[in-house]
Amino acid sequence: MTLDQAQDLAAALGLPRFRGEQAWRWVHGKGAIAWDEMTNIGPEVRARLAEGAQIGTLTLAEVQRSKDGTKKLRFTTRDGYSIESVLIPDGEKTTQCISSQVGCAVDCQFCATAKLGLTRNLDAGEIADQVYRARALLAAEEPDRRITNLVYMGMGEPLHNYDNVMRSLRILTSDLGVGIGQRRITVSTAGLVPRLEKLGNEDVRPNLAVSLNASNDRVRDEIMPINKKWNIAKLLGALRAYPLEHRRRVTFEYVLLAGVNDSLADAADLAKLLRGHRCKVNIIPFNPHPEAGYTRPSPEAITAFQNECKRLGLPTYLRTPRGDDIDAACGQLANRSNGELLVPLRVKKRASPPAPNVD
Ligand code: SF4
Repeated sequence: MTLDQAQDLAAALGLPRFRGEQAWRWVHGKGAIAWDEMTNIGPEVRARLAEGAQIGTLTLAEVQRSKDGTKKLRFTTRDGYSIESVLIPDGEKTTQCISSQVGCAVDCQFCATAKLGLTRNLDAGEIADQVYRARALLAAEEPDRRITNLVYMGMGEPLHNYDNVMRSLRILTSDLGVGIGQRRITVSTAGLVPRLEKLGNEDVRPNLAVSLNASNDRVRDEIMPINKKWNIAKLLGALRAYPLEHRRRVTFEYVLLAGVNDSLADAADLAKLLRGHRCKVNIIPFNPHPEAGYTRPSPEAITAFQNECKRLGLPTYLRTPRGDDIDAACGQLANRSNGELLVPLRVKKRASPPAPNVD
């Protein structure tokens, strides 16, 4: 629930609205998971509130630890599904990568989550609770570390689950809760053009990352079938119209796949395509996993690609893989425990898959 919804609930139960706010602060500010933790609310009022709301949506089922300090957290939902979230320490900063769906419908060919298919959307509480459970874990294991940044880049396409993602953003940015600033939150999309247009009109506006991965429709059609619905021209048109605030840029993600999109000609086309956009490009060398028939380009090819982009004036950053030894790096989230899959994946071998249904 957002704060407004909690206050409305209290009113609907015949209680003063501030009782809703008190309970909300316990859950979203202090991470309470039981009503009897709420020591400033009497037992009778707590019992009334419990008639209309549940708290504590996720159970931390497993923590896998990478040698680089990254932690992959597997949660189970009340109805027994697994989702994953990743904590990435980087100096003073700690970024949490959170999931927005159980699986994903978008079917990017290089992504392990895609092979799970879509089971269901996460509700706003399940999205936010990943942060609260991770915060509790850090408090127990590394009390000096705080979650400073959030990226909606885990399992799922956030804009496919638009309403719950927006509600979770309102909850997580509230100063009465964990109060993570909008500028420290990034929502990533594969390019759902109508939802991008809608996002541009919201009062809460996180940073935007767009998974681009190709400089032409032929390659993007092949590796991201969503491109058949909203091609590069439509996507870039929507981004050109997106009301970016002062000094903000769109981040384009570019997963570099050997022999697919990593040539110097690809780099030159990319620089030409993005000329005039307020943007930067994150180059992500492919993180191999058994479900995708791609390979990572050689270090020389990666450097040459980045240098060519830079030479042509395109700001690029090379993302070093984090947590790849525990399958926690970009594109690797598929509910594995010690390398073993917890649910079978959809096995598909198609040269050119149809566009997924992600309206
Ligand atoms: S990359 Fe993102 S949008 Fe594409 S299939 Fe994977 S989780 Fe879904």
